Amino acid sequence: MYKIAVLPGDGIGREIVPEAVAVLEIIAEKFNTPFEFTHGLISEDAYQKYGHPLPQETLDLCKSSHAVLLGAVGSPAMDQLPPELRPERAALLPLRKELGLYANLRPVTVYDCLIDSSTLKPEVIQGVNILTFRELTGGLYFGPKERRPLADGGYEAVDTLVYTTREIERIARLAFEAAQKRSKRLTSVDKANVLESSRLWRETVTAVAADYPDVTLTHMYVDNCAMQLVRWPKQFDVIVTENMFGDILTDQASMLGGSLGMLASASLGGNVALYEPAHGSAPDIAGQNKANPLATILSVALMLRFSFNMNEAADQVETAVRRVLEEGYRTPDIAFPGCRLVGTKEMGAQVRDILKTL
Ligand code: NAD
Repeated sequence: MYKIAVLPGDGIGREIVPEAVAVLEIIAEKFNTPFEFTHGLISEDAYQKYGHPLPQETLDLCKSSHAVLLGAVGSPAMDQLPPELRPERAALLPLRKELGLYANLRPVTVYDCLIDSSTLKPEVIQGVNILTFRELTGGLYFGPKERRPLADGGYEAVDTLVYTTREIERIARLAFEAAQKRSKRLTSVDKANVLESSRLWRETVTAVAADYPDVTLTHMYVDNCAMQLVRWPKQFDVIVTENMFGDILTDQASMLGGSLGMLASASLGGNVALYEPAHGSAPDIAGQNKANPLATILSVALMLRFSFNMNEAADQVETAVRRVLEEGYRTPDIAFPGCRLVGTKEMGAQVRDILKTL
């Protein structure tokens, strides 16, 4: 019996998470592996009930589960709250830190049938398959922050970018190990020409490389990487980078695959792993049955693979997603003229129907 904490969160999280849970229910039946789902509150619902977006109850639930499935946090209703109560800062970041999730994996796969959904040319993106390791519990998002009033008016705001050798080493090792199982190429992305933290990053990754002589390591500045990702993305296989660079670069890379709504993620490093789509709560389309649930469904495929070692089940979920796309079903974010346009619920149902036949 695997215990899964389910945190739908805000906005489209409430629509896409049920579709992913329904996929897991079919897997449970097919593979005779029971899953126990327990729903927890995070962000707006939690704030309304407990006065905090990440209550202890939710944290305890996550820590006592085998895996966590998260939708997204972020609600316009909470935008006016002080920073220490905003869900991104008071729920998402502490949840990752408390669970020790220092490695965020974001695989970008360009499905042949989605090539036309990308804004880039087919010859540039066909065959792209990139795995990014984003450091998740250090850097600018976690360093000390402050805002100080200035004597002559206005404020001075400070965010601190902190990294330790140990933090860099552990994510680098995971990325090297992944590269060994793939094409043995690793690109480490930093800004070592300007930032001291990036100089430590580069030195540390270079030192770790000595333990992986079969992997070819390349260093690249983040601004160049942003450009290369749209110029010739096929040069990349595994990328490792720090927290904020990874946040931005993976959103950009998601468009190679057609939509942010296709980008799954797994956050690893602690006893319990967390799975969530890479996108946010998308308030602009929330509650309209328009959200693409595939990133969340692909995230549960990662859960099956990494947390439960159910590789065949994970393969089946990924195959079902691919088939649905090949049959022309599309949510609005990846639609093309003449496609079979469906909403969130219908897309989930199509995946499940195919999954049952595999
Ligand atoms: P977003 O990722 O929510 O949306 C960006 C754009 O992509 C929007 O146009 C949205 O409609 C579209 N989009 C996102 N997911 C989609 C899906 N599954 N299907 C179809 N279209 C999709 O980013 P944002 O608008 O900058 O942020 C909205 C809120 O989400 C903010 O409060 C932000 O802080 C939060 N956020 C949370 C997370 C998280 O929970 N991990 C990540 C990013 C942003």
